[in-house]
Amino acid sequence: MTDTLAERWRAARPKPAGVHLDSGACSRQGFAAIDAAAQHARHEAEVGGYVALEAAAPVLDAGRAAVAALTGLAATDVVYTTGANHALNLLLNSWAGERSVACLPGEYGPNLALMALNGFRVSPLPVDEHGRLRVDAAADALRRDRPGLVHLTPLGSHRGLAQPLGPLAEICRDLGLPLVVDAAQALGHLDCAVAPAAIYSSSRKWLAGPRGVGVLAVRPDLIEALRPRFPPSEPAAPLTVLQQLAHGESNAAAHVGFSVAIGEHLAAGQAAVRARLAEVGRQTRTAMADVAGWRVVEPVDEPTAITTLEPTGGADPHRVRAWLIAERGIVTTACDARRAPTELTVPVLRLSPHVDVTPGDLELAAAALADAAAG
Ligand SMILES: *Cc1c(COP(=O)(O)O)cnc(C)c1O
Repeated sequence: MTDTLAERWRAARPKPAGVHLDSGACSRQGFAAIDAAAQHARHEAEVGGYVALEAAAPVLDAGRAAVAALTGLAATDVVYTTGANHALNLLLNSWAGERSVACLPGEYGPNLALMALNGFRVSPLPVDEHGRLRVDAAADALRRDRPGLVHLTPLGSHRGLAQPLGPLAEICRDLGLPLVVDAAQALGHLDCAVAPAAIYSSSRKWLAGPRGVGVLAVRPDLIEALRPRFPPSEPAAPLTVLQQLAHGESNAAAHVGFSVAIGEHLAAGQAAVRARLAEVGRQTRTAMADVAGWRVVEPVDEPTAITTLEPTGGADPHRVRAWLIAERGIVTTACDARRAPTELTVPVLRLSPHVDVTPGDLELAAAALADAAAG
């Protein structure tokens, strides 16, 4: 019981082949999630896929309950999707209200594309020089010009900045505006239990579940505003709106794996994980502060484990990423400007270690970056 959170997290999964600093793209799954998914696939082969699905109902319900605990919504508000983008598309595609949305100028590029595809007019929320939401100015702007919905990505893919989700949720509640939250990077990382009108996320990032899974939670009052565009269900058994959103073929084994992973997150303690991820971010930015040729974009104490490095001497993050993998076994992400087309001007290199990163790992990464510049 004296093991630290980091030691327990590391012991609960396969040994990394090198240094993994890439949880913002895809964390390393644990043995329990991997085994549960494999066990479900075996069970499908033994009793039949539809019978196995019925038998898995309790674990899938537990996964929904865990999402509810992290978002402030109810387990019955949650459906599984194939990812965060899929969840946003389901929501926007079903939107029966006015198709206008207010969001950060640094909004995730693929989200902006989905907003445009679904005919939403986009207006920018006011931000400071870091790209952080200016809360009072946002309240004024939303009161003056009411959009059909407000969308916030509390933690982006291109920059490890924690946005003020709680204060914006309060403003939206006061103004009676629906707040939709992209928690792909924020769930299991920042406090998201603000009971927004809708919230969606991805399994494979900070919750360390399998790929190809996401969740969407919609508060009952927002359900009224949705008209899913799906073929009519069988008249004998009309589906609820939420059931229509969840309709379609899906990977039950992956849902089972996700349910186990998010259960492990809750068992580790959400506050303890958040505190450790904030510490990891501080350690990472400190370790990278003096690496020649790169500038740390985030304030050192930003309470997230995402650190981005902007090249100051012409390095190409895509080439450096490939070099780090090939030569040193260090996995990072190169983020190009499409991730946040109106905020990111040059590609950046993203380091996103999970709770188990060691000072030694960070020293190796800093030294490798210096060598990459020299080589
Ligand atoms: C990764 C990411 C997404 C997309 O998630 P998928 O599950 O791959 O669809 C959406 N928003 C943000 C901020 C992300 O980082």
